[in-house]
Amino acid sequence: MVTGASSGIGLAFSHALAARGANLILVARSRDKLTSLARELEHRHAIRAHALAADLTEAGAASDVHARASALGLAPNILINNAGFATHGHFDALPLARQLDEISLNCRAVVELSHAFLPAMLEQGEGAIINVASTAALQPLPYMAIYGATKAFVLSFSEALWQEYRARGVRVLAVCPGATDTAFFDVVGAEEAGVGARMAAETVVNISLRALDRGQSHVVPGGANRMLGWLPRMLPRQTILQIVSNMLRPRQRLAD
Ligand code: NAP
Repeated sequence: MVTGASSGIGLAFSHALAARGANLILVARSRDKLTSLARELEHRHAIRAHALAADLTEAGAASDVHARASALGLAPNILINNAGFATHGHFDALPLARQLDEISLNCRAVVELSHAFLPAMLEQGEGAIINVASTAALQPLPYMAIYGATKAFVLSFSEALWQEYRARGVRVLAVCPGATDTAFFDVVGAEEAGVGARMAAETVVNISLRALDRGQSHVVPGGANRMLGWLPRMLPRQTILQIVSNMLRPRQRLAD
């Protein structure tokens, strides 16, 4: 099962897993995109692919997805919690409802889906959960405060589960991509939210699947991103906050 399969990193995961011969359950809001992706992957790779349209910010959506998958007789042995989005701007100026939706999708849906699908994996004695966090998880992000906090949650949650379940055959991996070339920045609506050159989504996915095969608990794709990830461990926290703040401070818009 891949959430956020209609675009970007989730789309790349879907192609990569189908190429490995996996049957797929594709989840996102865009029903039409999912349906045509499912047909395309079935045709190309001789697999079965199911489109389950759902808005994972809604309360109960994750258990509904679990119920619909069960009704189809599907019990995924790989769950990829990838759907997510970011907001950028001054915390007080961003709509609260949008920031709460960000928490729901980036954190609550990840927890609910993991809780729903993990028991069957444990029963089988094998399975994998890949949670897409971000380099945003590695330090607080002024002007993207909620996004950074949600991804820190995902990283912490995933690493804890990695340790809890590795002896029982279920692998858990947190992926921490840096800026990646997807629709993410169109959704954020601010170019300054992306720091550094953008990696191809396919590269992020290849590195992630290799890390999963190796049994890693987390992976930061790309040397430059790994280096950035080291800084918060070496510099004082307030210095890091100042650096990140300089990078992410909202630019004056022409229309303002
Ligand atoms: P993207 O191209 O915008 O894809 C986001 C996906 O999430 C889409 O398939 C979207 O599909 C789905 N989605 C959004 N809201 C949803 C909702 N309410 N319910 C269900 N699905 C929803 O962005 P992306 O870069 O691939 O993002 C994937 C993950 O990577 C996110 O968790 C993001 O935080 C993380 N990430 C991205 C970057 C980056 O630079 N791109 C860097 C680090 C981490 P629908 O619109 O059809 O619902």
